[in-house]
Amino acid sequence: MNEPSIVQHLFDVLDQSASLIEESQSVTYLEALCMTAENIHQDRIVQKDLEKQLGPLYDTFFREGMTAEDVRRAYQLAVLKGMKTGTQLNHQMTPDSIVLFMGYLLSKLLPSDTFSMLDPAAGTCNLLTGMINQSQSETIEGYAVEVDDLLIKVAYNNANLQQRNIEFFHQDSLRPMLIDPVDITVCDVPVGYYPDKENASQFTLSNINGQIYSHFLMIEQGLKYTKEAGYLMYLVPNDLFSQDEGNKLHGFLKDQAVIIGLLQLPASMFKDQRHAKSIMIMQKKGPDVEPPKQALLAELPSFSNERALSEMMTRINDWFHSHWSKQK
Ligand code: SAM
Repeated sequence: MNEPSIVQHLFDVLDQSASLIEESQSVTYLEALCMTAENIHQDRIVQKDLEKQLGPLYDTFFREGMTAEDVRRAYQLAVLKGMKTGTQLNHQMTPDSIVLFMGYLLSKLLPSDTFSMLDPAAGTCNLLTGMINQSQSETIEGYAVEVDDLLIKVAYNNANLQQRNIEFFHQDSLRPMLIDPVDITVCDVPVGYYPDKENASQFTLSNINGQIYSHFLMIEQGLKYTKEAGYLMYLVPNDLFSQDEGNKLHGFLKDQAVIIGLLQLPASMFKDQRHAKSIMIMQKKGPDVEPPKQALLAELPSFSNERALSEMMTRINDWFHSHWSKQK
């Protein structure tokens, strides 16, 4: 019989432990997964009645040669299992293929420098840690903000298990944050209405066709917490600009940022085309910021079409080579 892969092995440990804790403590699988991660990270089993079963299981967790990325993938599989039952669309984890693609774009944008990075809607922290894992930089300061009580636990346990240095903030990220402006803000934006009218009134983009939308406010807030000439890489709804009938976003961005690229994700990735998304890359204005001669605009092919995807990557690499590295 073949040895299971490292990711499969790590998932098996997390899954067996979470299932045992779920049953014995009468908690949800996701809560039990958080407890599992905490036990492993702290090297201490809190659930004394399970010590005999969990101890030998955890002893096998760390394997030679395993990476933070192996842990992220295994944890992601366990989170997906835990989310199968009734997770709201807006709480869903950023899928792996998109995480990997955004990580690749990050490695092109900020090849190896030391930088700081914020995700103001961090969810499970799959996107933020996945992008950090793909970067060549050894020294990234990460900041993650999440409003949901359970997801913030899922997120910091994820980062701890990957031994990633990320500071967590459990709050509404549309309220003031104790975070200095960062070099890059990344976000898979929550799409929908923002309920706090009073707080929204502080924003320029608080009224989009008479509505207050989180996805517009997250863009404005991201720009505020990004340094001059810093970057933003956002996963946004395809119809973002057409939702904005009064062109408020358009005017706001023209004032504050330059668009570097807009990459439409393949339609096949979304069951419902109304939820289809694009990756928008922006640079906040600053003294030496010039818009690229030609923005990176593309409709990405299906990620399972290897030939078309490889041609697209060549096109994107060429774009970075001719329009980006020369500009830097
Ligand atoms: N990238 C995340 C991941 O990999 O798990 C998924 C992000 S999910 C699409 C959007 C997240 O934004 C949800 O976890 C939701 O709880 C969070 N959110 C929504 N409104 C927020 C707010 N005002 N402040 C902070 N987080 C918020």
